[in-house]
Amino acid sequence: MSTVGSPVTILINRLAAGPTAPGPGGATPLLTRVADVVARMGPAPWARRIIADERNLVTLIASAPGGGNRPHWHAEFDEWWVVLAGRLQWELTGGVVVDAAKDDIVWVPRGAVHHIRNVGDELSLRLAVAMPPAWHFYSPCEQCGFADDGPREWCA
Ligand SMILES: [Zn+2]
Repeated sequence: MSTVGSPVTILINRLAAGPTAPGPGGATPLLTRVADVVARMGPAPWARRIIADERNLVTLIASAPGGGNRPHWHAEFDEWWVVLAGRLQWELTGGVVVDAAKDDIVWVPRGAVHHIRNVGDELSLRLAVAMPPAWHFYSPCEQCGFADDGPREWCA
């Protein structure tokens, strides 16, 4: 299913009736320690969803040196990341290259083809913030010569 050309609407059907203390057993822990996730997940590559609700998809992503993802773009949301470890490079539509390291924040507008590579010598960690349903539209990357022959769409 493609979202291109049709508006995306978000249904918020779980509303708080007023100030509400967080109860036990919620869908998302109140505190996530990155070091605990890293220890539990083991060697890269891996991705672990940290927060998922009607408006947020937050994912911790680990890449080994040289590792990365496929060039893709998003139709209905801008995507951003916080680099928590390592050195990463974003390559974007139009020949734009963004180098980022720990504590940097990278923002990519909707429609921009982007792919991310670990260009350092150590494990990289990035916290990705997207919006559901987070369809990925895969695309070749002109400037990097990435000829993509995988599936064209994927929903996070
Ligand atoms: Zn993306």
